[in-house]
Amino acid sequence: MRAVVCSNADLEVVERPEPVPRHGQVRIKVLRCGICGSDLHARHGIDAWADIAARAGYDRLARSADELVLGHEFCGEVAEHGPGCRRGSPAGTPVVALPLLRGAHGVDTTGLSVHAPGAYAEQTLVEESLMMPVPNGLAPETAALTEPMAVAWHAVRRGEVGRRTVAIVIGCGPIGLAVILLLKAKGVRAVVASDYSPARRALASACGADVVLDPAHGSPYTAVRRRGHLEDIPAALELAVGTREKLERLPFGWWHAWRLGEALGAAPRHPVIFECVGMPGVIDSIIDGAPLFSRVVVVGVCVGVDRITPAMAINKEIDLRFVLGYTPLEFRDTLQMLADGDVDPSPLITGTVGLDGVETAFTMLGNPETHAKILIDPQSTAVSPAPA
Ligand SMILES: [Zn+2]
Repeated sequence: MRAVVCSNADLEVVERPEPVPRHGQVRIKVLRCGICGSDLHARHGIDAWADIAARAGYDRLARSADELVLGHEFCGEVAEHGPGCRRGSPAGTPVVALPLLRGAHGVDTTGLSVHAPGAYAEQTLVEESLMMPVPNGLAPETAALTEPMAVAWHAVRRGEVGRRTVAIVIGCGPIGLAVILLLKAKGVRAVVASDYSPARRALASACGADVVLDPAHGSPYTAVRRRGHLEDIPAALELAVGTREKLERLPFGWWHAWRLGEALGAAPRHPVIFECVGMPGVIDSIIDGAPLFSRVVVVGVCVGVDRITPAMAINKEIDLRFVLGYTPLEFRDTLQMLADGDVDPSPLITGTVGLDGVETAFTMLGNPETHAKILIDPQSTAVSPAPA
C-alpha cells in the first residue's frame, strides 16, 4: 500500500506492506484523514514532545529519525478483521475509531508512534473495541472530523460552560473553530472569538461566534463588559463588603443566608476562556486581561517553556485548567452530534489532497489566510488542496 512517511522532517510517499490486524484489531481502508496542527508540529519538533511524554511515562512516541506514518483523525471502511474480533461491523462498513492501538508493550498513540502507524496511508489498523460505525450515512469527510471535534467537546465539557456563561475563544485555528461550533451546539448564547487573521475571523463567524474581533484593535474581555463580571480588585472588595452589609439587615445570622446562597450556586459571574493558540505568552496575556474569577481552559499545545505571573492569577483567582484528548464516551457522543446534524463542521474543511499532495498541504497550512483543515483522500490524485 502507499503511505506518507515522515522522517527527519522529510515527507515521502512510499510503498509499505499492508498492515496485519492482531488480536481484536481491524484493518481499515482509509477514506479520509485530517491533517492536524499537531502533525505539523510533529514533523519538526517531535523530539521535544517525545521527551515530555517520556517524563510522563510514555516513552514510545516517535523520534525525528524514525519512519513515522502520521494521521490520527480518520474515517475508513472495514477491510479485514483480526483474530478474536466480534465482527459487529462487516467488511465495507464505514467507521471511525479512537486513535489508540494495543501492542506488545501496551497502548500506543496512532499516528504519533512507530508502533501504531497512522492514516496518512491507504490502510491502517484500529482496535475493534474503539471502532464505531458511522451512523446516518454521514459523509466520510465529516466523519473524519470526529476526532478533532471530540477534542473540542472535551474542552467545552471541562469548561463547565452554562448557556448563560460568556465563552471567549482565543485563537480561531481548527480547534478554536471546533470549540466555537460545540459551544453554539450546546446553546451557549454569547460566544466571543478573537484572532489576528481576517480569514480565521470569517470562519469564526461562519461557525456561529456572536462577537468576532481582531485583538490588535479590541480586547475580547472588554467585548463582554456589563455582563456582571468583576473587572478589578475594587469591584471584588465592593462585592464582598456590600453583600455582607446587605445581609446585616436580615433578622437571622448572615452566615445562614451566605451558606444557603453558596449551596444554591451563587458566585461571582465569570467568563470561560478557551486558549486555542498554544504559543508562549498567550496564557499570561489571558491572565492579564481576563476578568476576576475567570476559568481558563488551555487547549492549545505549547511544547516549550512558558512564563506566567502567578501573583496576577492569584489577584484574580483565575481557575486554570488543562485538557487532553477525550473519553471514548465523548468521542461517541461527538460522532452522534455530527450524524444528527446538531453541529456542522463543514466551514472548517478548506481543501482535500491525495497522498502526493501532503507536503504541499503542510506548507499551505502554515498560512492561516488560505486554509484551516485539509483532508487527505488516499484515492485522490490531487497534489494541491482542491476545495472539498
Ligand atoms: Zn489532532
